Amino acid sequence: MSRVYNFSAGPAAVPLEVLQKAQSEMLNWNDSGMSVMEMSHRGKDFISIAEKAEADVRELMAIPDNYKVMFLQGGATTQFSMVPMNLLQGKSKACYVNTGAWSKKAIKEAKIHCDVQLSASSEDDNFTSIPAVESWDIDSDAAYLHYTSNETIGGVEFQDVPDVGGLDLVADMSSNILSRAVDVSKFGVIYAGGQKNMGPSGIALTIVRDDLIGNVKAGSPTMMDYKNHADTGSMFNTPATYSWYLMGLVYEWIKSKGGVAGIEARNVRKAEKLYAAIDASDFYANPVQISSRSRMNIPFTLANSDLEGGFLADAKAAGLVTLKGHRSVGGMRASVYNAMPEEGVDALISMMAEFERTKT
Ligand SMILES: *Cc1c(COP(=O)(O)O)cnc(C)c1O
Repeated sequence: MSRVYNFSAGPAAVPLEVLQKAQSEMLNWNDSGMSVMEMSHRGKDFISIAEKAEADVRELMAIPDNYKVMFLQGGATTQFSMVPMNLLQGKSKACYVNTGAWSKKAIKEAKIHCDVQLSASSEDDNFTSIPAVESWDIDSDAAYLHYTSNETIGGVEFQDVPDVGGLDLVADMSSNILSRAVDVSKFGVIYAGGQKNMGPSGIALTIVRDDLIGNVKAGSPTMMDYKNHADTGSMFNTPATYSWYLMGLVYEWIKSKGGVAGIEARNVRKAEKLYAAIDASDFYANPVQISSRSRMNIPFTLANSDLEGGFLADAKAAGLVTLKGHRSVGGMRASVYNAMPEEGVDALISMMAEFERTKT
């Protein structure tokens, strides 16, 4: 059986080397005589796996010592609630930037807990750009400012960390974490679901500055309190052990590829050549303003939408799958996360050129 190039937005492709390592260790991890899935989370074997994953991601992202790193359940969506519950700390307002579908979901959830000040929105241009930070309406009395560093559906990405004065910055990095260098010290909270750039779904890497922990809104369920997870090394209840282990294998893999810098250079090459192919053609188009284009999720349309079915069929025959765009946007979308090899992007570009040649 041959593997395909999987352009899925999430759950997304996992590096082949990671899957092979997991396979080789599936029945007997490190002579323990058991699978990681079968281990007690409190035993020394699993603790060593958990600690290694944390140490590796701390090293990869250069996470300062005054930040807690947590492996939490419920995906990124649970963080949409945990952020306001933990960070409001008696305040009644938080600032949010709306750059697309995932921002909107975070905003909707935050409104359950506080007044949301919409600091900026690109809804008027159909979410094809990132609003310039100089134009943002920031309230210095707000508890924090939340933004989505990469919009997985629209394909827009912040190229820099916005400067929001003294407000604590919170970022949903689900679809671009570990794909580019970021200065963690500029943030109060960074969170990311696993299934785009780190392997499995259902788990969220959550990085929180120490001083923001320990002041959860009264009446919150214990599972929603960062302090309970921080104090127990993310073992307040039974963690998602196998997913945590897989994330650790992905961190090891990124280290073997030259760390975030090595991966970023590869991501730049992959995105640049795919955008160049789209821009050079009158047949394909990407709607996003050039300076806001995502390196991870690249939506594109065909000159004639009646050809979409044929395009997807030809792509599938060439071993290129899950290219159909999100139902809210239409067209195609190529998600080219860290795990997508450069050869996969090259294969897509060739297939696109061939399809265009036969249809024009
Ligand atoms: C996928 C995604 C989410 C949701 O993740 P879940 O794990 O399904 O909760 C949130 N934000 C962004 C930017 C995403 O790409």
